[in-house]
Amino acid sequence: MQRDVDQVLIPRAQIAQRVGELATQITADRSAAAEDGQITILPIMTGAMIFCADLIREIPITMQIGLITVSSYPGRSVISQGAQVIGQQLGDVKGRDVLLLDDILDTGATLRLVKGVLEEKGAASVKTCVLLRKDRPSAQSFAADYVGFEIPDVFVVGYGLDFNNHYRNLPDIVTLKEEVLARP
Ligand code: 5GP
Ligand code: MG
Repeated sequence: MQRDVDQVLIPRAQIAQRVGELATQITADRSAAAEDGQITILPIMTGAMIFCADLIREIPITMQIGLITVSSYPGRSVISQGAQVIGQQLGDVKGRDVLLLDDILDTGATLRLVKGVLEEKGAASVKTCVLLRKDRPSAQSFAADYVGFEIPDVFVVGYGLDFNNHYRNLPDIVTLKEEVLARP
């Protein structure tokens, strides 16, 4: 797995530090905005799984966790094939403040889709937090409330992000060698 890595873009220590900062900011905003107990955290599976696990353990407020699975890069795709909800276990979202978590903001299609689902289900408010945002115009078309890092417009894996459902367990955010992406 390590030999498929081209470049380490964001090493694990830097991720951990930034996740801590995001958690501090979210906790402060939340404490200023409302009483405890109404927040539902909704990671978009599968990419946001590791980000969510690290982030929520640094947010010391009462919360519920829901799950939604969206697929847009099936199999070996490295460009978006259009976002589709393929599974959900939202829990209690009606009348609740929801914080959506995603690994990366690329075209914004995923967050727009899930935000629509939540509004339809009667969420009181929907905020969004992404670990990464690609430096391309389409990523600016969706205004995320919290952004961890801006990255160049390249295909990345690791820390939950996959290629063909592999590499999610790499602890750093990395790019893959050309020949790995091109492998039949
Ligand atoms: P969007 O819907 O904003 O175009 O893309 C967001 C989703 O596409 C993310 O949740 C992620 O699953 C996937 N995605 C976008 N860019 C990348 C990337 O560089 N690497 C990987 N592994 N997935 C990506
Ligand atoms: Mg995703």
